[in-house]
Amino acid sequence: MDDVILPAPAADAARKNLIGLSREELLAEMASIGAAPFRANQLWHWIYHRGVTDFAAMTSLAKSFREQLAEAYVVGRPEVSRALASIDGTRKWLLRFPDGQEIETVHIPEDDRGTLCVSSQVGCTLTCKFCHTGTQRLVRNLDAAEIVGQIMVARDGLQEWPLAAEARPPRPAGPRPSEQEAEDRQLTNIVMMGMGEPLYNFEAVAKALRIVMDHEGLSISKRKITLSTSGIVPMIERCGAELGVNLAISLHAVRNDLRDELVPINKKYPIAELLAACRTYPGSSNARRITFEYVMLKGVNDSPAEARELVRLLRGIPAKVNLIPFNPWPGAPYECSSNAAIKAFSDIVFEAGYSSPVRTPRGQDIMAACGQLKSDSIKQRRSEILRAAAEAPL
Ligand code: SAH
Ligand code: SF4
Repeated sequence: MDDVILPAPAADAARKNLIGLSREELLAEMASIGAAPFRANQLWHWIYHRGVTDFAAMTSLAKSFREQLAEAYVVGRPEVSRALASIDGTRKWLLRFPDGQEIETVHIPEDDRGTLCVSSQVGCTLTCKFCHTGTQRLVRNLDAAEIVGQIMVARDGLQEWPLAAEARPPRPAGPRPSEQEAEDRQLTNIVMMGMGEPLYNFEAVAKALRIVMDHEGLSISKRKITLSTSGIVPMIERCGAELGVNLAISLHAVRNDLRDELVPINKKYPIAELLAACRTYPGSSNARRITFEYVMLKGVNDSPAEARELVRLLRGIPAKVNLIPFNPWPGAPYECSSNAAIKAFSDIVFEAGYSSPVRTPRGQDIMAACGQLKSDSIKQRRSEILRAAAEAPL
């Protein structure tokens, strides 16, 4: 395990951060200092395609313009207070914002992809009974810069910004560079499965994901992005229509009385309404299935009868199921189901024609479970969730 404590960067309240501005906002910002629209496009390329943070290195811009930019703006990054690397390759960054609040971002490498688990809020206003994040008292939304910043920090840490054009060997004939680069990337997929409920911070999440999806920048396609929600029904349609990303639903129970207890937002948006929103989710198909997350809680929701009911409920929805062994935390009112119970549950779901993988933990030595870095006694299993989404055939 490799634990690096990094120094805090100098505070810079006087200069505006360009990260997190939409393309339109960047254009308007440049117009306000008298720069032509193509300058904003060049800047976008330097910031989001090349990952450059120093205006002086943006060599396609006139020197005087670079100086002008450096006086008024920064290309910021969240402060990385800790960076951890697991022996299995999982990496984790603990990020601290100027108000002292902290969140985590986790990268899980696999043979054919690398997935980043991104947070949408500090803490969460919802109080799912099995979730440690839900016990945190302090909650605030992240803004678009703080969400995009998580991806920028990961790209920095993974050192996978494209080489500066001048350092690149001549390009052989073949696929366009963007395709070639995409194949080699370690950060190919994003899951909104860190701290927070992304559909309770939709505007900032949407703005951030539009920046992430932009073809001339980070260029991560909507097919490689999965948003996980506890079931904020009125926002599900908007998520599909406006962003078109993959959807994951934290179902966890097949009866309203139990789901009311485990995922209390169910009292507002019960199972039938939630599944109706899934049935009409824009863009879902057999090739792009909705993931149903189901945390395995011993003696609570893990019986064969519940597995059969799950299959019945999902009928007609292009679905796949991710079974997540419960990750215990001190004071948690539940235990994880036995391996035998998980296997029996998984078999029933699988035999009904749904993929139902059960995940092995990743990054346990660095406590890769989101939101739990500071609790040393907590066993780390939540990275399984990330892996579950990472393995989804997108
Ligand atoms: N708020 C969103 C996304 C963040 S939580 C949501 O609830 O979907 C990501 C996933 O982790 C959810 O499926 C959540 O139910 C699950 N989860 C939370 N705490 C867990 C724990 N202790 N063990 C296993 N899974 C957990
Ligand atoms: Fe919030 Fe998701 Fe945790 Fe529920 S499971 S408390 S919605 S982060």
